[in-house]
Amino acid sequence: MKQRLKKGDIDNILVMGKSGAGKQPRIDVLIAEFGLEQLSTGDIFRSYLKAFDEIGFDGNILDFFNTETDDFISSEIIEQQLKTYLSGRKFKDVLLGLKAKYYVSNGLFVPDSVTNDLFLSSFKKSDYRGIVLDGYPRTIDQAKFLVTVAEKKNRKIDAIIHVVNDDETILNRVTGRRVCPNCHKVFHMKYKPLKDGKYCTNCGTEAITRIDDTQEKVLSRLKEYREKTQSAIQYLISCDIQYIPVPGNLPELTDEAVKNSVFAAIENPEESIFSVEPF
Ligand SMILES: [Zn+2]
Repeated sequence: MKQRLKKGDIDNILVMGKSGAGKQPRIDVLIAEFGLEQLSTGDIFRSYLKAFDEIGFDGNILDFFNTETDDFISSEIIEQQLKTYLSGRKFKDVLLGLKAKYYVSNGLFVPDSVTNDLFLSSFKKSDYRGIVLDGYPRTIDQAKFLVTVAEKKNRKIDAIIHVVNDDETILNRVTGRRVCPNCHKVFHMKYKPLKDGKYCTNCGTEAITRIDDTQEKVLSRLKEYREKTQSAIQYLISCDIQYIPVPGNLPELTDEAVKNSVFAAIENPEESIFSVEPF
């Protein structure tokens, strides 16, 4: 018998699922109900990239990477070279930002070791608890790292909330999405139409498709999910973390319906309330 999630007794919850499955509305429910804070990989990366950008380094960051060893040169040497730029900023944060920047700005795959370091530094700032994790862990190595950290710090991972949605629904949902570049209102060609099929109903600006919302990008993220994140979820389940699948697609997408479906799943994780295969 699994422990019920109880307000005030939760250390950390993982919200997992395919990109575009509908994680954010479920995260909002968990934050409101359990008084947790969201920690997203996207935000973590942005904050460390900012920490690096703010020092105004005008040299070439490629100089800090040794392509022969396929690793960064020693931190001591990097610190020496960045010393005059730091002006009171923590070198550790700047270094993490530099490493993230090296991969991101060169369009390279970010190694798990770097993602883990960035995550750990942010997780530590929350004293390793009170968090809804979003977008992490995404691979089995990240999952192993998280479990080890939680064990070492004596913190629980109380549940995996798996927002389940099928590829076709996600593809329709994401490729039909349009956003207003002016007021950022989000539309859908079919479910939430624009004015005359083109213009924001709020401010009249012509809406655009986000660069990440193309079919090609959606399919590539789904592939990565299948190849990497699925096994991370299975690993976490094997660590005896409570697994709670929730439907990402509801007949009616109101706040109330989302909340009810999340809590129905939390009360009865064994009873599958939707027909989609979780994996
Ligand atoms: Zn607008």
